[in-house]
Amino acid sequence: MPAQKIDGQELSKAIRAEVAAGVAAHVAAGGRPPGLAAVLVGDNPASEVYVRSKRKACEDAGMNSWLHRLPATASEEDLLKLVADLNADPAVHGILVQLPLPKQIREEAIINAISPAKDVDAFHPQNVGLLAAGHPRYLPCTPFGVQQMLARSGIPTIGKNVVVIGRSNIVGKPMALILMQKPTKDFPEAGDATVTVVHRGTKDLPAVCRTADILIAAVGVAKFVTADFVKPGAAVIDVGINSVDGKLVGDVDAESVSPVAGWLSPVPKGVGPMTITMLLQNTLKSAVAAK
Ligand code: NAP
Repeated sequence: MPAQKIDGQELSKAIRAEVAAGVAAHVAAGGRPPGLAAVLVGDNPASEVYVRSKRKACEDAGMNSWLHRLPATASEEDLLKLVADLNADPAVHGILVQLPLPKQIREEAIINAISPAKDVDAFHPQNVGLLAAGHPRYLPCTPFGVQQMLARSGIPTIGKNVVVIGRSNIVGKPMALILMQKPTKDFPEAGDATVTVVHRGTKDLPAVCRTADILIAAVGVAKFVTADFVKPGAAVIDVGINSVDGKLVGDVDAESVSPVAGWLSPVPKGVGPMTITMLLQNTLKSAVAAK
């Protein structure tokens, strides 16, 4: 029997409707409409697509959205000046600087310059620290999306073995932090799971993956995860976005894994739409906190 599909598109629709209702209630109570400022430096076609879909999702949820463009030749100082202006603008509740940046601009310098209260991607070291300490201000959008996919599909994490493939700052590391921590009033999303993170240095990676009740692939290698990585009945979440011959392909070989797994998230229409949805949720949270 094929694995049950975890439909990120459908879950996103439901969460976006909740966010839109939250926006309407916030505005009805006299709050400023939540606003997300996106910054695009240069003309990377993939970044253009991501920013367009993020802005459309904002507008559909009743939020304001602005796009600030800088040329590929912009200096770090130019971008820091724009970030300072957005930090000071009370209509802006979230600042999204689309990565990657041209090589003359240090990503770290820009991330550190964004006001932590407006850092709805949760990349600022203060927000990373708050998550690690168990009191997150915002959860980073992609791992937050994965957590919601599990929770809303009724896949329990408490006491389960989770294996995360990949240890990046954007996906793997915060994913592990969210799922390993103890749930509290401040952090109800925490997974209370036993989490293992695997990477290029891991010995016999497929064997470690086979211990997982929940396997999360954030590798960046098309079809990396095959049936021999998967314990029968496990939930498999595919975070990967790879382009193969112009086609979008995940990190999981769905054809191989589907007969073994209990649950599987597809690519496309899996984690991708959830990432944008959680960005909306974080922007609303920022607006509500700002009043
Ligand atoms: P990344 O920064 O390149 O990190 C990849 C991780 O995978 C690294 O920790 C790396 O290990 C590990 N890895 C790579 N090849 C491996 C191998 N052969 N064996 C074992 N481990 C290996 O990538 P990322 O930013 O986390 O993104 C991962 C994937 O998710 C990409 O396909 C990306 O496009 C996608 N993504 C999707 C969304 C979404 O919204 N759906 C959002 C963000 C990213 P080492 O640390 O040892 O090098």
